[in-house]
Amino acid sequence: MQDRTVVVTGSTSGIGAALAAAFAAAGANVVLNGFGDAAEIETTRRGLAQRHGVEVLYHGADMTLPEEISDLIVETERRFGAVDVLVNNAGIQHTDRIEDFPPEKWDALIAINLSAVFHGTAAVLPGMRRRGWGRIVNIASNHGFGGGVNKCAYVAAKHAVLGLTKVTALETAGSGITCNAICPGWVKTPLVDRQIETRAVRDGLDIAEATWRLLIEQQPSGRFTTFDQLAAAALFLCGDGAANLTGSSITQDGGWTAL
Ligand code: NAD
Repeated sequence: MQDRTVVVTGSTSGIGAALAAAFAAAGANVVLNGFGDAAEIETTRRGLAQRHGVEVLYHGADMTLPEEISDLIVETERRFGAVDVLVNNAGIQHTDRIEDFPPEKWDALIAINLSAVFHGTAAVLPGMRRRGWGRIVNIASNHGFGGGVNKCAYVAAKHAVLGLTKVTALETAGSGITCNAICPGWVKTPLVDRQIETRAVRDGLDIAEATWRLLIEQQPSGRFTTFDQLAAAALFLCGDGAANLTGSSITQDGGWTAL
């Protein structure tokens, strides 16, 4: 990944933070994005740059706002001359039955988990086409393939991301650009910790039991997908071995979608 520039949206936490660190370790310059404590983000940014001898920037674009997404890409191109890899990772979750789902939560979730993928992709494609090389990696979900009770907005957004991944692949086929999705099952991040806590309270369980039940109900391996496994998939998609792999989804869900 040397001399490549990678933007990872939503990389101040969880999967995005792990992917950003993996790209930096592979020699890429990285742009971090997401919310969080400014001092902690700066410590992460500086640490990655020093450890791996690469440049790491932070851009605080709010992924609900198209003009800020555009600024994230324009600023990265101004600073590094290119966005070679865009990882559309930023995402949120909200659970409620459809009739109780607050419309503002629906709007926010669709904006971050779906529309931001469109805006980011539209912003990077002109430069990628000029250079004849680019990689777009969309972090979708096993919920891109199947439903989930109380997850209407998330499931709708992730299904749509898989559709957008295919259209992006078709429109860029043969141009040196590829677009693929990674579909994790359960990964131990703050987004899932909140769901485990909700389940523990609802069912009167301790956290260990709630975690086990969450896993075994849907993820046949009974194991979380790890950050290292997701990073390996993302790096593979950006390597020469995946040059003709486009429009696909890599499931890393311990067999969930095979059920
Ligand atoms: P997380 O909560 O740990 O991290 C989410 C990141 O998105 C954070 O950096 C946060 O600051 C950022 N973010 C949220 N709203 C934002 C906004 N408006 N603008 C910019 N950044 C914003 O979550 P995670 O579990 O690491 O999830 C990352 C992606 O992986 C999401 O798209 C999620 O749907 C997907 N995913 C997660 C799991 C899982 O089990 N954790 C499974 C499948 C898919």
